[in-house]
Amino acid sequence: MFLFRSERELDYHHRDVPRQQALQRGAFDGLHADVDRWLDELDRTPAFSFDSITQLRMDTWSRGRVTLVGDAGYCPGPAVGGSTSLAVVGAYVLAGELARAGGDHERAFPAYERAMAEHVRGSRAVALSAAKTLIPTSRLGVSGLAQGARLISALPAGPSRALLRLTTKSARLYNSMTVDDYLPSPTASGGRVGLAGDPGGGLGSGFGVE
Ligand SMILES: Cc1cc2nc3c(=O)[nH]c(=O)nc-3n(C[C@H](O)[C@H](O)[C@H](O)COP(=O)(O)OP(=O)(O)OC[C@H]3O[C@@H](n4cnc5c(N)ncnc54)[C@H](O)[C@@H]3O)c2cc1C
Repeated sequence: MFLFRSERELDYHHRDVPRQQALQRGAFDGLHADVDRWLDELDRTPAFSFDSITQLRMDTWSRGRVTLVGDAGYCPGPAVGGSTSLAVVGAYVLAGELARAGGDHERAFPAYERAMAEHVRGSRAVALSAAKTLIPTSRLGVSGLAQGARLISALPAGPSRALLRLTTKSARLYNSMTVDDYLPSPTASGGRVGLAGDPGGGLGSGFGVE
């Protein structure tokens, strides 16, 4: 994965792959022999995806009988961590609020938005700070990021995961996220459920009952 900052918004059509690859080459060409070798893979790769890391902000994500879940409504920014967790939590809350309101969307949608508002705000803040770390603005920042990554990958798996958890705001946010427990269960009645699993990794989150 190549990540770079540009001073102004890039001008390209989302289907114009040659133009996108030219922009990528322009950002990285000649940096290092290894980087040039990776760029050569652009001519061979069967799959290529090029996109901006964009945070989506809307005052509401419901209108009439339509509401949005996940990235469509409140993407905090792809590749900066956690938006899959937010999408899964959003789907769970929406289903729960619809069930609680007996299918009445006029009650369920505002309740869904209220229940998600704080999580969405938190995710936005974490994503902005993760983007600053992942895509540094200075040479010093790039060098610090590379040294930190080397240190983390040199440690054994256990300590390295523990260190990552301690240092990522994203893991703390997603580990502390709770929503109503909408599922009738013999072990938990009317409690709150929280995310468990590995939100730092992003894609492996599950639910645990508090
Ligand atoms: C490079 C990259 C890295 C990422 N890394 C992470 C990470 O580490 N951790 C993390 O949590 N998240 C990460 N994400 C973000 C994560 O992929 C999304 O947040 C998540 O997939 C959102 O799920 P979703 O269901 O809301 O949307 P999507 O997964 O985008 O699902 C939307 C679906 O709707 C379909 N669709 C679109 N238009 C139509 C239409 N008109 N009719 C029918 N179907 C349609 C699409 O084909 C797609 O299948 C990353 C994203 C990218 C791009």
